[in-house]
Amino acid sequence: MSFIIKQKKEDCIGCGACTSVCPNNWEMGEDGKARPKTTELPNLDCNKDAEEICPVKCIKIEESK
Ligand code: SF4
Repeated sequence: MSFIIKQKKEDCIGCGACTSVCPNNWEMGEDGKARPKTTELPNLDCNKDAEEICPVKCIKIEESK
């Protein structure tokens, strides 16, 4: 099983919370919004923390087979 990281980018307010709790996979782009470095991962690592901390809930993690 692996995990798909999805972000509804138009909802991102650029608060930087995800990049603080999960710098392994989240970075700020030049547009002032966060973006995932990788969107398909073999394990969640800190992405669950990013999903939970996002104040606008624009990060979603899905499982893929
Ligand atoms: S926590 Fe959410 S709103 Fe804040 S930068 Fe990350 S994706 Fe954007």
